[in-house]
Amino acid sequence: MQGLMQDWPLTCDKIITHAKINHPEREIVSRQVDGSITRTNYGEVHDQARKLSSALQKRGIKLGDRIGTMAWNNARHLETWYGLIGIGAIYHTLNPRLFPEQLKYIVTHADDRMIFLDLTFVSLLETNQSAMPGVQNFVIMCARAEMPETTLRGALCYEDLIDEGDGDVHWGGFDENTACGLCYTSGTTGNPKGVLYSHRSNMLIGMTAAMGGALGATGSDVCLMVVPMFHANAWALTFTGPMAGMKLVMPGPMMDGKSIYELLEGEKCSFSAAVPTVWLMLLNYLEESGNKLPHLSRVLIGGSACPRAIMETFDKDYGVQVIHAWGMTETSPLGTVSHIEPEIAHLPYEEQLSYRLKQGKPPLIVEMKITDDAGADLPRDGQAYGTLKVRGPAISKAYFGGEGGDILDEDGWFDTGDVASIDPLGYMQITDRSKDVIKSGGEWISSIDLENAAVGHPAAAECAVIGMPHPKWDERPLLIVVLKDGETATAQNFKDFLVGKIAKWWMPDDVVFVDDIPHGPTGKISKLDLRKTFKDYVLPTV
Ligand code: AMP
Repeated sequence: MQGLMQDWPLTCDKIITHAKINHPEREIVSRQVDGSITRTNYGEVHDQARKLSSALQKRGIKLGDRIGTMAWNNARHLETWYGLIGIGAIYHTLNPRLFPEQLKYIVTHADDRMIFLDLTFVSLLETNQSAMPGVQNFVIMCARAEMPETTLRGALCYEDLIDEGDGDVHWGGFDENTACGLCYTSGTTGNPKGVLYSHRSNMLIGMTAAMGGALGATGSDVCLMVVPMFHANAWALTFTGPMAGMKLVMPGPMMDGKSIYELLEGEKCSFSAAVPTVWLMLLNYLEESGNKLPHLSRVLIGGSACPRAIMETFDKDYGVQVIHAWGMTETSPLGTVSHIEPEIAHLPYEEQLSYRLKQGKPPLIVEMKITDDAGADLPRDGQAYGTLKVRGPAISKAYFGGEGGDILDEDGWFDTGDVASIDPLGYMQITDRSKDVIKSGGEWISSIDLENAAVGHPAAAECAVIGMPHPKWDERPLLIVVLKDGETATAQNFKDFLVGKIAKWWMPDDVVFVDDIPHGPTGKISKLDLRKTFKDYVLPTV
């Protein structure tokens, strides 16, 4: 027997329409490429998006077409997403930090028909456009007066394009499983692979992220959306924001500590989301300037493990609650969230912190388990660690174009490539990426745990750990450190600092100091590049 409820497909056009009807005046504040601040609201974003949809339709863009966006977080970028979504075209976010070869590959692989870009990226795309023959128009997201001289093919000014439209367009009306957005993983091996979100999966992840057990988003929140829209589906905030009616503050290209502080303070932000590197820059700025964070109540940290020092400093010095979360492009991306649940609420601070520093528990729409190398399930005892597998309605079942073949096992589980444990309370903890874990004497050392312990050293700005070959132990850890400006420290200082914070046999065999640690396109430490840099290095213990 079928239920007698209405057939109301979960298509994402309904999100911005809801925002237009129910909280049209709520603001979207954007930092532009030139540093200036502009303001609009959900009502205007909706109207602009409808005009854009009709302009695109007149130019022949239709259901299923892929359109690239290479842009910072700003209101025009949001309008573009919804303008595409409404008519069933697909936003394809392009990460400007990708190597040109990867960029050319993904634009061609996705067969993008147009690319929307911020002024910042004009010359990058001018240089590479000849390898993107399928792109008919490059739309520069600027005001008419800012339109530059450019050799970009079919160059259009965003404002002119919008004016071609009249807003008379039919949105939605297609199946909720229709493709909605495309984001390529930055994959350290092989070509990037396209993760293709559906309207249904975006709607579900947006609602899931809004829940109290996740971000707890409400219309009273002011959200500084630092996580770039080109990173892992913008952590669902482009959907959660207009669903919940959060005022959104978009930082554009400026993500240094001072600029982030100015927006947090100036716009009275209550909530924000970013990777640990951004928070480290902010905390360093606050330490130097002596400024405080009177309005901020909580921050979401994910993308890499949250170091203990960040959580403690936010807690103790600024009264800001850190919500640690794990996810990946393939999980839309919210996979787990770490919250203080009743079972740990009574624990002393240090003990509670050890739970909060784990990556946390999955929401309803994510199932999770760990398995050994043979694929057998491992116990949830907090001790056993193995391959982390997930499944659910907002998790990839294949990559765009069938690249990579079958990515699910026969029971529908997706192998995340992460190694993790799950404790009896259900909190998952990432040990490492499976390829970064250090195999020493048949046991595993977590490079993440070592990095997080080492970065607590007062002189450390950033730390990375990689496994180096060792004839007796197979691999041993090498700690690589960037010191804060003006600080000095020796290898022995770091080793002394780590005593008591890590298992004895985890002690790095050496500590080296560098000016800079390489990062990948989504801001994560690039272990691949570090391994290349240190390929001829020999540990003193060899
Ligand atoms: P991406 O698809 O680029 O977002 O990368 C996803 C990967 O980032 C995951 O598979 C993890 O290895 C890593 N990651 C994301 N969040 C966390 C976290 N909170 N702690 C540790 N690793 C994380």
